Amino acid sequence: MVEFKSKIYKKQDSGLEGGKVMSALLEIQDLKAKVRDEDVEILKGVNLTINKGEIHALMGPNGSGKSTLAHVIMGNPKYQVTSGDILFEGQSILDLSTDERAKLGLFMSFQTPEEVEGIKMRQFLINSFRNIHKEDKITLLELNKVISELSQNLDLNGEFLERYINTGFSGGEKKKSEILQMGFLKPKLSILDEIDSGLDIDALRIVAENINRVKTEDMGILLITHYQRILNFVIPDFVHIYIDGKIVKTGSEELAKEIEENGYSTLEQEMGITISEE
Ligand code: ADP
Ligand code: MG
Repeated sequence: MVEFKSKIYKKQDSGLEGGKVMSALLEIQDLKAKVRDEDVEILKGVNLTINKGEIHALMGPNGSGKSTLAHVIMGNPKYQVTSGDILFEGQSILDLSTDERAKLGLFMSFQTPEEVEGIKMRQFLINSFRNIHKEDKITLLELNKVISELSQNLDLNGEFLERYINTGFSGGEKKKSEILQMGFLKPKLSILDEIDSGLDIDALRIVAENINRVKTEDMGILLITHYQRILNFVIPDFVHIYIDGKIVKTGSEELAKEIEENGYSTLEQEMGITISEE
């Protein structure tokens, strides 16, 4: 615990760089949100700060609102922010569209990636890259080289890139395809929503290895998961326990192990909160 505190101090207190005050990469302030046109509040006051380079794991039971948080950060119009703010590099992004947020450097991998017929994987990657990195003069040839290398690392073969997005992909291929996008698009912040769900141990290992491989020193990661297992491979700087629309506890990797051993229900008793699922 002492070690954990000193880590926070070191990382979060380094707000000065070259005499200039540095903003956090992502700062979520008392965020509340509901399903648009319905009266069901799902996010009930989320506070979370992610600095450059940090890996934050967000763990919580099913139905606690983890995916909703990810969608609200990306600006999915299905949800409506009712109060609070989301700052990205110091600026509020609440008024920006999902596309504009992606251009700023936000990326999200879907818990259940959708199949999109008619657009081939390779074309989708290249179009997305050109859309996000307009100033980048990298040639098509070089982009294709990067795609090949990333795909090989992920154990995805060449034919995969000529198929329509996610169409007929296996569960593992869909998840790997999300990491391929993350590696290729080079976001500043990657939100990975249950990237581990439905993967066998070999695929999980490949996915985790590639998250570590494509993570740059500056990239922040919000790793949303139900299980501790992936955190053996992708080591978080912070672990947040998220229940019923808010973070109820923050700690180090050890906290994830405690949850794995005792389940979320022990926390429920300890903190006097209700968990919808268990
Ligand atoms: P988690 O990812 O933690 O499993 P979700 O964010 O998917 O949780 O869902 C949290 C709760 O919000 C669930 O009860 C879910 O049914 C509800 N919910 C999420 N999105 C919608 C929506 N678009 N319409 C209605 N209810 C929703
Ligand atoms: Mg979810």
